[in-house]
Amino acid sequence: MKLSLCFTSLFVGSAAAWSTITMKTEGSSRRDVFRSVLGGGAVAAVAAATSVEKANAYAVPDLPYPFEALEPYIDTPTMKIHHDKHHATYVANINKATEGKDGAEAPILDLMENALEAGPAYRNSGGGHYNHAFFWDEMAPPDEAKKTKASDQLQALIDKSFGSTDEMKAKFEAMAAPGATFGSGWVWVCVNQAGDELKVVNTANQDNPLMKGVLAEGVMFPILGLDVWEHAYYLKYQNRRPEYVSNWWNVVNWSKVSDNCAYVVEKHAGVNVKG
Ligand code: MN
Repeated sequence: MKLSLCFTSLFVGSAAAWSTITMKTEGSSRRDVFRSVLGGGAVAAVAAATSVEKANAYAVPDLPYPFEALEPYIDTPTMKIHHDKHHATYVANINKATEGKDGAEAPILDLMENALEAGPAYRNSGGGHYNHAFFWDEMAPPDEAKKTKASDQLQALIDKSFGSTDEMKAKFEAMAAPGATFGSGWVWVCVNQAGDELKVVNTANQDNPLMKGVLAEGVMFPILGLDVWEHAYYLKYQNRRPEYVSNWWNVVNWSKVSDNCAYVVEKHAGVNVKG
């Protein structure tokens, strides 16, 4: 305990030191900061101190654009409620579930593979946190989004896997329709295990393709995902989910999707998210 108190006062008790560390690592989570500064053993010691558990808790990441930026395709009230209420609830619940447990400092990505075994809080709230953090980052205001395009690597995979971008979109929209994804869930474009083909898949509730046991084909690596829960579109579109899905292409940031593709093909792992 003496050791943890020592680290606590050194790294957390000092606001100046803390802000310096935080500023230098913009974009990284506090858990990553501790990991890089202290190393694994010391991280565990620090996590034992109550004051640090709060600092290490998962957080709702800020949107990379204002709430109104995705208008008219995704309306401002939906963005506010979706981000500040729905996403915040998933974060609060995964924090409750992981508080004081081993691995509580792990990036949310690391909880995905075994989320089904870990239990409903990990699957539903952990999945909810990962999926939403992933979702916010792959979108951009329409004026910016339309200037983005698929990288050569991504375009080659799209063409090989679907024939063309239009055919991929058609397949995605068909999968997102209520008849194919009934009730609440997500639709994804994933890179397969071998890293040489894209697949369009759907998952129920807050499951995602990174979770073992969710897809019959095994774990795959998402590069694009769409929330088709009613809370994602109902205020603007009511029962017209297909209109929401087809409009959503206007806010897809293909630069980010291309980055995701490059990452998962190289690393053979899921994309890390903020928060
Ligand atoms: Mn949602």
